[in-house]
Parts: sequence; C-alpha cells; structure tokens
Amino acid sequence: MKGFFRTMFLAGLVVLAVLCCGCGRESAGAWEAVDVAMGTMVRLKVYGPEEERAGEIFSQAREILQSLEEDELSWRLETSEVYRINASAGDGKGEALSAEMAQVLQTCLELYEKSEGAFDVTLGALVRLWKIDSWAGGAETGEFQAPSAGSLEEALGRCGSSMVGLLPKDSWQEGTRLLLPEGMQLDLGAVGKGLALSRILELLEEEPEVSGAVVYLGGSVLTYGSRLDGGSWKIGIADPSDPSSSVGILTLEGQWCVSTSGDYERYVERDGVRWHHILDPATGLPADSGVRSATILSRDGLLGDGLSTACFILGPEKGLELAGEYGAEVLFILDDGEFVMSEGMEAFFSEAGRQGSP
Ligand code: FAD
Ligand code: MG
Repeated sequence: MKGFFRTMFLAGLVVLAVLCCGCGRESAGAWEAVDVAMGTMVRLKVYGPEEERAGEIFSQAREILQSLEEDELSWRLETSEVYRINASAGDGKGEALSAEMAQVLQTCLELYEKSEGAFDVTLGALVRLWKIDSWAGGAETGEFQAPSAGSLEEALGRCGSSMVGLLPKDSWQEGTRLLLPEGMQLDLGAVGKGLALSRILELLEEEPEVSGAVVYLGGSVLTYGSRLDGGSWKIGIADPSDPSSSVGILTLEGQWCVSTSGDYERYVERDGVRWHHILDPATGLPADSGVRSATILSRDGLLGDGLSTACFILGPEKGLELAGEYGAEVLFILDDGEFVMSEGMEAFFSEAGRQGSP
C-alpha cells in the first residue's frame, strides 16, 4: 500500500515555477503536489523555497500523513495505536497512551462534554454498524438497508465517552492507561484530517524559507503565511446541493484552518432518502438538525474538525454557542439553503455573486 501512495505522490507531483513579474529578478517559486491520504485527496502548495527544498517538504508532509494513519489513527491497521486501544477493550488492563494520543483524546473528551455528548469519538461500534467506510461519494443503491432498531440499540450500548475510564481528564499524559469497556471502539474519523493539518502546520513553522502555504485535505483546509502576490487566501465553501461549485468564499490572511462537515461528503441514497455519515449519538441515526453543512474557521485544525462535526449535529442555535465557547467562527448552510453564521464570520464570508470569483 505504501508503494501505491508513493506512486500516486510521484505521479501527482506537479511543480510550477513562478517568476515574479515586474521586479526584474526570479522570485522564489510556488510548488504544488497532490497525493492521497485518509481515503481522500490531498493538495499542498508551498511558496518560497527552492525546488529541491520544496520536494523535501512534500516528502516530509507525506510521511506525516502516512505515519498519522499507520501509527496513530487507523482503526483497520494493526500497526496503529487506535487499533491496539480497540483490541484491548474489555481486557481490564487497557492500553498505555502515547503523549500525542493523550492530548488528542483530552481535547475530544472536552468537546464531548461541551457538546453535551453530540461529539463522541467512542462511536466506533455504531460507525461500523452503518458500514460508513464502504460508502463512496453517495451512489444511489437499492441494496442499502438501514440497521434495525434493535441493532442500533445494541451498538449504542457500546458507545459513550462518559464510560471511558480516563478521568480525571486533566491528568492525561504519556503512559496513562485507557480502559475501554468490552465492545467499545474508538473512531477518530471526525478529527483525523484536522489533526493532520495541525501536524503539517508544525512542519511549515519550522521552515523559514516557506513564506506561504495552503493545504487541502478532503473538507479541511489550512492556510499559512501569504501568497506570492501578497493577496489574500480565497477558500470556497461548497454548495451542498452541488459540491463542485461554491456558495461563497472565505477571504483569509495568514494562518487559519477551515473545516467543513456536510451531508454530501459521504452518504448513500435509497428511495430518495439520504443516509449520511454524521451520526447523532442520541438516536444512532444520521443527525437531522436542519443543517446541510457546518464550516468552522479556527486557528487549530484538530479542534476545528471536531467542532464542525459537533456543530453539524447540534444545529445552528447550540452550535453557535459551542463555537463561541472555543473562540471559533461558524457558518451553517441549512436545509432550505439559508446561511446562519457567527458575527465574526461575517467579516470573512462573501456570498457567491456578491464579489469576484475566487
Ligand atoms: P467529519 O464530520 O469530520 O467526521 C465524520 C466522521 O466522524 C464519520 O465518518 C464517522 O467516522 C465519525 N462520526 C460520525 N458521527 C460522529 C459523532 N457524533 N461524533 C464523533 N465522530 C463521529 N475513507 C475511505 O474511504 N477509505 C479509507 O481508507 C479511509 N481511511 C481513513 C484513515 C484515517 C486515519 C482517517 C482519519 C479517515 C479515513 N477515511 C477513509 C475517511 C473516514 O472514513 C471518514 O469518512 C472521514 O474521516 C470523515 O471526515 P469528514 O471530514 O468528511 O467528516
Ligand atoms: Mg470533523
């Protein structure tokens, strides 16, 4: 599999040297690479370094993504920490956490509490029951069967961060043992991409030659520094009814993380009903809060990704409150196409048609 990713990376490495016009000298370049990670497309653009250095940065970013998946987050690969934690469920001994995982879980548990249980990384049993991993971009399928009420109840009985033997949560650190009850399974799908962006940001911050960068990872985007032409970053917000087009753009300066959770990202349809992948732990069913997408603008990738999932489930009223508690901005697109956004978001968002295209 590693070979596949490497081939994809090399095949997708598109390098563009950009000359600075008007100043009479060749500027630092702009470089772009595409890759596949965490079941989605990754696109990285960096501005500033020489070609060779840019290639090294892309390699390092690829290693970060691979290692995050293979060593930490995958629920399928035996090499990962999440796999080992899940395998230890019910054995009474648990698994000693790495410093990184302790920190991630601490953030996730805090979000669980603040979202009153809407965001919950212990939903593995429920996510597996719905077979979300097997849903592609949302083909109509006559074969799809929603789980029965009985199986939902059984799976929900094996979910719930409040059952995790980790408290007090502020003492989580390297070596803390996580004791999952029998049958409970972690699923960090809701924060994986955001965490990846946070890690790539750390890499960029150690590279003085990089004056700017933008990273697209599925529905999550990282902006960093500035563009070569000094212009702002323009990040499109997908139209839930036609995700290939935008309903508007965010205009950003410097470092931001933009994370979107939407019912169009991963779903199946049967008989005109859409079953999507963001589950309400109160019912076990796809969340039905009148929201088609929730976009979070935050400084931190992990938190932004978690918040976008939580806000999607909570809906606009409680979601606005939750995002505000974390100092993040939020934009909801509702079922009827209406926008609801935090006050601070208004300074960044412009609706399509009200300003030049991105
Ligand atoms: P988000 O809204 O950020 O998260 C939704 C996901 O979070 C759901 O898919 C579910 O996993 C989980 N979730 C659902 N409800 C809740 C809730 N209430 N609280 C907390 N979490 C919830 N996809 C593939 O097709 N193939 C792969 O090989 C693959 N590998 C992956 C490996 C890793 C390490 C990660 C992180 C993801 C991978 N994915 C893969 C994608 C994954 O299956 C999800 O589709 C993806 O993470 C969803 O991200 P999102 O930003 O679209 O949605
Ligand atoms: Mg998320």
